[in-house]
Amino acid sequence: MTNPTETEIGAYIAEAGAKAWDVPGLPEGIAHRPVKSVGIIGAGTMGGGIAMNFATAGIPVTIVDTSQDGLDRGLKVVRGNYQRSSDKGRFPQDEVEARMDRFTGTLAIANLADCDLIIEAVFENMELKRKIFTELDRVMKPGAILATNTSALDIDEIAGMTKRPEDVIGLHFFSPANVMKLLEIVRAKHTADDVVATCMALAKDINKVAALVGVCPGFVGNRILFARQKQANKLVYQGVMPWDVDAALNAFGFKMGPFQMSDLAGLDIGWSKGATTDNPIRDALCELDRRGQKTGAGFYDYDENRRPVPSDVTAGIIRDITGAEPSTMSPDEIIEVCIYPMINEAVKILEENKAQRPSDVDVVWLNGYGFPPDKGGPMFYGDMVGAQAVLDVMERLGAEDAEFAPAETLRKLAASGGKFTDIDTGGLKV
Ligand code: NAD
Repeated sequence: MTNPTETEIGAYIAEAGAKAWDVPGLPEGIAHRPVKSVGIIGAGTMGGGIAMNFATAGIPVTIVDTSQDGLDRGLKVVRGNYQRSSDKGRFPQDEVEARMDRFTGTLAIANLADCDLIIEAVFENMELKRKIFTELDRVMKPGAILATNTSALDIDEIAGMTKRPEDVIGLHFFSPANVMKLLEIVRAKHTADDVVATCMALAKDINKVAALVGVCPGFVGNRILFARQKQANKLVYQGVMPWDVDAALNAFGFKMGPFQMSDLAGLDIGWSKGATTDNPIRDALCELDRRGQKTGAGFYDYDENRRPVPSDVTAGIIRDITGAEPSTMSPDEIIEVCIYPMINEAVKILEENKAQRPSDVDVVWLNGYGFPPDKGGPMFYGDMVGAQAVLDVMERLGAEDAEFAPAETLRKLAASGGKFTDIDTGGLKV
C-alpha cells in the first residue's frame, strides 16, 4: 500500500480532468456543427434537468412530452429549481425569467425539425426509443445531432434505427442532471468525428466534465457500479447486513453505500407487483411497499428526520430468503470485496477499448459516483493498494463466479509490478 500525499492526489485529479477532454484521432482543427437550439424529448426527471443545462448556458430549448400535463409538470419542476437557486441569492429574479423564456413546450416531435441537437430522454424502453428515432430520422433537418440519454441500451442498435447513424451519439447525463458534473459521451460505431468533437465542446459550454466512452452494457460508470452492487448483494447472501456494507463504504469515503443508494433511487425500478426477479430480497421489500425513501422505508426504516435506521423487518426478510446465519465481516474485507471488483471491471473496460485511458475511469467515478477524492478514483486507488492485492481477492471471487475472473491485464500488472494508471490499451475503439 502506497500513501501518496494530498498534493500528489490533487495533481493527479487535476491532470486526469484535463486529459479527459483530449480525443486522440480526431482530425486537427475539425469544424464543429453549430448548436444554437436544442430539442429535448421527455420532460421527466432527466429531460427537465438536461434542458436546464442549455437554458442556463443561453441556448433555447424546445421540450416535448406526450401530454400537456406532463409538459406543465416538467416545466414547473424546472422553474422551481431555478427559483430555489435565485432565492438563495445565486442570481436575480429576472434571470429566472430569462432562463424560463428560453423554454418552449410542445407535444409534437415534428416541431423539433429545425433544432441543431436533440436529446431523447423518454422511458428506458427499446421499442419506445425505436418509435422516437424513426420519427426523428423522418423529420429532423440534415446534420442535426441525434443523442440519447439511455443508461444501458445499445446505442449502436438505436443508431441503426435511422438512415443517419453518423449523427447518433449517447449523451449520458447523471441525476440530477442540472447538478451532476459528469457527462459520459458515448461514441457509437458510426458516430462521425465532428459529432464527437461538437459534443465534447458543448459539454464544456454547459459546464460539465466529459469523458468519451464506448458502447457496452452500462458504459463505463454504471458497468463498474453493477460490479460493486453485485458483490454487495452477495455479501447479504452471506449473512452480512446491508447497513454493515454501507457503513464500510461510508467509512471509506462514499457518502452513500449501495443500499443507501438503492433506497434513494427507489427499489421499484424494474419491478412490478407480483414480479419475481433475480433479486428476491428487493422483490419482497417492494411487495411490503418498502420501495425506498419515497415510501418511508426500503432496506432501511426512516426516522422522523428521514434518517436511515437499520430495519428488523429487512433483517427478517433477508434471513428468510437467504437462510444465511448472521455474519460479520471487517470493514476492510467489505471494501476489498466491493471495491476491488470495480478495479477489475475497469481493467476489462480498458482491455475492450471502451474507455480512452485509465484516468478517464477515475474522472467518471469522481464526478458521477462520489468516489472519495482522497483516493483519486478506482484506478488511482488500485495503485495505492497494488495489483497483487487486487489480484489475490479477484482470484477468490472469480473462483466463485466467472464474471469476476481476474482481467488478463490485472495478472500482468501483478507479475510486473505495473500500475493501473499506466495501462495503455490504445484508446477507444468502436
Ligand atoms: P421519467 O419517467 O422521469 O421521464 C420520462 C418522460 O418521457 C416522461 O415525462 C414521459 O411522459 C415522457 N415520454 C414517454 N414517452 C414519450 C414520447 N413518446 N414522447 C415524448 N415524451 C415521452 O424517466 P427518466 O428517469 O427521466 O429517464 C429518461 C431516460 O434517461 C431513460 O432512458 C433513463 O434510462 C435515462 N437515465 C435516467 C437516469 C435517472 O437517474 N433517472 C440517469 C441517467 C439516464
